[in-house]
Amino acid sequence: MIRLWSPDVNHRLRFAAACVFTHVLEVGHTWVTAPEEAHLCYAAKREGPGLHIVPTALGQLGVVESDPATGPLWHGWPTLGPTDGGIGFDLLGAVVFLAARMEEYGHPKLDRHGRFPAAESWMGRRGCLDRPLIDGWAQALATELSAKFADLTFPTRTYNVLSTVDVDSAYAYRGKGFKRTLGGFLGDLKRGDAANRRLRWRVLRGKQPDPFDTYETILQEHARHSIPPLFFFLVADFDRPHDINLSHRRPALRALVLELADRAEVGAHPGYRAAESAERLALEIGRVADLKLGQVDHTRYHYLRGRFPEAFARLAHQGLRHDHTMGYADAFGFRTGSCTPLPFFDLKAEVLTPLMLHPTAFMDTTAVRYLHLDPEATIAAAAALAKEVRAVRGTLELLWHNEAWSNWKHWEGWSHVPEKVLAAVGPIS
Ligand SMILES: [Zn+2]
Repeated sequence: MIRLWSPDVNHRLRFAAACVFTHVLEVGHTWVTAPEEAHLCYAAKREGPGLHIVPTALGQLGVVESDPATGPLWHGWPTLGPTDGGIGFDLLGAVVFLAARMEEYGHPKLDRHGRFPAAESWMGRRGCLDRPLIDGWAQALATELSAKFADLTFPTRTYNVLSTVDVDSAYAYRGKGFKRTLGGFLGDLKRGDAANRRLRWRVLRGKQPDPFDTYETILQEHARHSIPPLFFFLVADFDRPHDINLSHRRPALRALVLELADRAEVGAHPGYRAAESAERLALEIGRVADLKLGQVDHTRYHYLRGRFPEAFARLAHQGLRHDHTMGYADAFGFRTGSCTPLPFFDLKAEVLTPLMLHPTAFMDTTAVRYLHLDPEATIAAAAALAKEVRAVRGTLELLWHNEAWSNWKHWEGWSHVPEKVLAAVGPIS
């Protein structure tokens, strides 16, 4: 049990300590009232025998900073919130800044989907998005604490991979209903796209599989690498161009969700506008629960939308416990500064919630649409992220789309990439 002391223990400090000790180091901790008993002293002036961290304003209630100064390298890790004395930087304040996403509150420069861009982030601007800083700091802290207090021991955690699949379009042609199918044929005619028209016809007559029907391959390849897949289903009301999923009323979608829920975990992918509406969010989560005939435990906002704190406060309020939106569309890396699921702390309400934010470090469309990487560079980038995560024995979370496995249209030449990535990053490799 790690004993901590501070003259001013507030909710932010409790959150930061929970991130470091409970979630990353997986060790118990408690706040004590006498500095003489503490292993760690978090105060302007050192008191007692503990390791000393000098606080900055980041850990104080009500403070929102957008660009804290760069600190010294600590055990080889970049830091922020530098201080004179102590270990040289405000480790707990820095955890609050990164893990609670302080810089995203009210940030004026958003992309066209209203998202916080990776290039605007503190880590992005310093070129260290690919490093799980919080995990590195926590493990360095454990090293220093064990050197100082011989009786302290820390468990060794194991490297993990979680692979997720966003199903934005369950099928390219199947199950769309009369109106959308007719519209599709008319569109093919108008564009003079005879190949598309022929394929659509063959798929609808059962002569050829639907291009996006990649589920069996996805399940088999995940099983081969001992990585459990997690599927997120988009069931928003049809709304071009962002929400073009199959209707939740279509029997083809119901059959697919039921089958996948039998063989893997299925979560909800709240649609483009659900990120701004409690009603839509509840409606769409309810639809996925109806389809899978079970409770929805996992969510990820479509397009990785969702502003702080509202979009996440709504999830917490609606009883959701595991959200997977925490990645960037335009870059690989660790948006919360960590490769460990950490709780959502609402900086506006200054309250810790039971909602866990699972960091997603790699997305297929980031490689194709934003970074314009070729397959080989994409596989290498995923392997590099895995190396970082293995070094701190964290969890690497991947984000695929079922379309990426299709070898069709702009995914042509990519169907080997997921399998190669799973092989490169898998716990058994
Ligand atoms: Zn999506």
